[in-house]
Amino acid sequence: METGLKNRVAIVAASSQGIGRATAEAFAAEGCRVAMCARNPQTLQQAAAAIQQKYNAEVFSEALDVTDAHAVHRFVEAVVARFGSTDICVTNAGGPPAKGFLAANVDEWQKALEQNFLSTVYFAREVIPHMQRKRWGRIITITSITTKQPVADLVLSNAVRAAVVGLVKSLANEFGKDGILVNNVGPGYTATDRLKDLAKTRSYNSGKPEKEIFDAWAADAPVKRLGQPAEVADTIVWLASERASYITGQTILVDGGLYKGL
Ligand code: NAD
Repeated sequence: METGLKNRVAIVAASSQGIGRATAEAFAAEGCRVAMCARNPQTLQQAAAAIQQKYNAEVFSEALDVTDAHAVHRFVEAVVARFGSTDICVTNAGGPPAKGFLAANVDEWQKALEQNFLSTVYFAREVIPHMQRKRWGRIITITSITTKQPVADLVLSNAVRAAVVGLVKSLANEFGKDGILVNNVGPGYTATDRLKDLAKTRSYNSGKPEKEIFDAWAADAPVKRLGQPAEVADTIVWLASERASYITGQTILVDGGLYKGL
């Protein structure tokens, strides 16, 4: 399938590991020029070097915290200075802690808002003017299955990610006329360090072994296994491609059928 992505400039936020890294790698495999960022300079640099080497890709990377609006501004400016434009922007960040409502304090609510909602606002504000100039752009947010089906003990994710869906739909409505498509991808249980952390918390709270928790997650999906980061990444690449040119304002779950609704 011809994706039409060769030489496109793809920003992937929070991409030193997990789904973000797999997404940066999938864009590099399509011949994109890739811009990566994450907080930890060492792991980011290692990931960027590995992707650059494997695909002979042009990769730009810079350590930053996606909750810092000024840092996001400087990063996007640096990407444009280096590559001449920015065509695709995938927003991502670490997930909020697993908590029930009364266990989550006000600082944690604020952090979840900054990390999992405002970071997307910061990136969108920076990239949209560049995309408008080219009359072509793709913004894809990485959220969660919680945008369709709340998960017990993930009240921060259940609540804050709904705001991202509202933003995605609003941006899709406002900027479709400029050739900019905006969609949201919601992973189900996907084998990354984030899932290991969630399993640890669940195990601690319930007294069940971690393996039992992983097995229950896998069993809950009709395909009877966890997802792989590359499976989420492939969906993101398809959404960014010319093969998905009439899709905007949507949430696509990559969850092995975990979502129980119609
Ligand atoms: P992960 O913890 O494996 O990786 C997170 C990445 O984000 C890392 O590269 C980390 O360095 C970076 N990061 C975290 N906070 C950052 C910040 N403030 N600024 C810059 N970089 C930051 O997580 P993952 O499993 O790849 O998940 C990615 C997103 O998808 C998360 O929001 C997560 O909650 C969500 N999600 C994951 C799953 C799953 O099962 N793995 C399921 C649903 C939703």
